[in-house]
Amino acid sequence: MQYLSTRGEPASRGFADILLEGLAPDGGLYLPQTYPRVSAEQLSRWRGLSYAELAFEILSLFITDIPPEDLRALIAKTYTAQTFGGDARITPLKPLPGDPGMALLGLSEGPTLAFKDMAMQLLGNLFEYALARQGAELNILGATSGDTGSAAEYAMRGKRGIRVFMLSPFGKMSAFQTAQMYSLADANIHNIAVQGVFDDCQDMVKAVSADLDFKRRWHIGTVNSINWARLAAQIVYYFAGYFQATQSNDQQVSFTVPSGNFGNVCAGHVARMMGLPIRRLVLATNENNVLDEFFRTGVYRPRKSAETHHTSSPSMDISKASNFERFIFDLLGRDAARVRELFTTELQRRGLFDLSADAAFSRVSDDYGFASGSSTHADRLATIRSVWQGSGRLIDTHTADGVKVAREHREPGVPMLVLETALAAKFPETIAEATGLQPERPAGLADLERRPQRFAVMPVDVDAIKSYIAQHCAAPVAAGG
Ligand SMILES: *Cc1c(COP(=O)(O)O)cnc(C)c1O
Repeated sequence: MQYLSTRGEPASRGFADILLEGLAPDGGLYLPQTYPRVSAEQLSRWRGLSYAELAFEILSLFITDIPPEDLRALIAKTYTAQTFGGDARITPLKPLPGDPGMALLGLSEGPTLAFKDMAMQLLGNLFEYALARQGAELNILGATSGDTGSAAEYAMRGKRGIRVFMLSPFGKMSAFQTAQMYSLADANIHNIAVQGVFDDCQDMVKAVSADLDFKRRWHIGTVNSINWARLAAQIVYYFAGYFQATQSNDQQVSFTVPSGNFGNVCAGHVARMMGLPIRRLVLATNENNVLDEFFRTGVYRPRKSAETHHTSSPSMDISKASNFERFIFDLLGRDAARVRELFTTELQRRGLFDLSADAAFSRVSDDYGFASGSSTHADRLATIRSVWQGSGRLIDTHTADGVKVAREHREPGVPMLVLETALAAKFPETIAEATGLQPERPAGLADLERRPQRFAVMPVDVDAIKSYIAQHCAAPVAAGG
């Protein structure tokens, strides 16, 4: 399988080449040259497989430059019941009796209680493997307001050849999120508490990444959501959810996906392009409704930072959707010149692009199955309450955005699966506001906030972070805790 860029860079590259990369050199995003089509025979055979076996069947279609036996071993070591909450299904289906025909697809049984573990855990093992083969090192530099940073740290902890430098806004994360990251004692994990807000952290990462000499000298990389390997790993659970929700492969299923950067739902789009019988892909946003607006009107208008709302489903607080270009590329018949025009000239000139008059826009729903909706804080509270009353389940705020929108789109006879992108235990404040209850923690996390914490405090100063990185990279990477 070869990969191309959504902006037309002609060179084709293998999975191993793009594994450690973000954007393509021309500024586009990587996609497979074609989507593998799954036959009825394959689909029947896959129905009985374990999650790890299924993941191998699917990922080996996209990863053809890692020996199959190595890939199988990496996947088997990633998707274990031990890492994912003790449930052998890894992504268990959780029926909602109060909403007949609806169920949650549990994607948050991993170590940080959010769906990003599903891809990040595999990424950690793939990175370690690829770096060992090249005899190389990687220093991951990132900024986080919560979920991504912790998922990256739990995936990379103790990995040979990898260090993580994660910037977070000092005192601005929830006590749970802070403790989750800062209590890690692994020598290769560096938590840096920046005396500023999340945007300051992100600006510092951008400034360091823009210094190409520094970047090359210290092997700086990222693990952001545009990484193709992350997206590929997420394709698997659409199949796993489908098999759990149906008895036979002539049935259709719809999915509702709480969305921010369009990474999760883009994996659903790929699964559908591969031939998984998905009827609708329903995209749910919170008050930051950039994507809902596009699917309703055909206008894509990224927001300015000042227009981005801070909400109670914070992992969906985005101003632009960094994976969206992948879908637009497919929607426009893979016309790379047109994609480049829209995402560079057009966005710069007008701050938006408008496909409402384009024939392609009518295909969004008819041919690609997309629908959308959005949710507010009041909706989240009401939804958390009603799911608790109707089904006896406490759901997190992001999943609540999904359930709210899913209820508006369900159809008789078509199971509607809502992707559970985090557990309620991660957002106890809003759960208490909605229900007066304290969500239960998974076993083993009861004392999280009382564990010793380890982090460096730093001003908003690019030179300070550079010298910190240089100082800690001079020593060899210490493996293990
Ligand atoms: C990251 C995240 C999302 C958004 O996923 P995208 O792939 O960015 O669309 C939704 N919910 C939670 C809990 C998340 O951490």
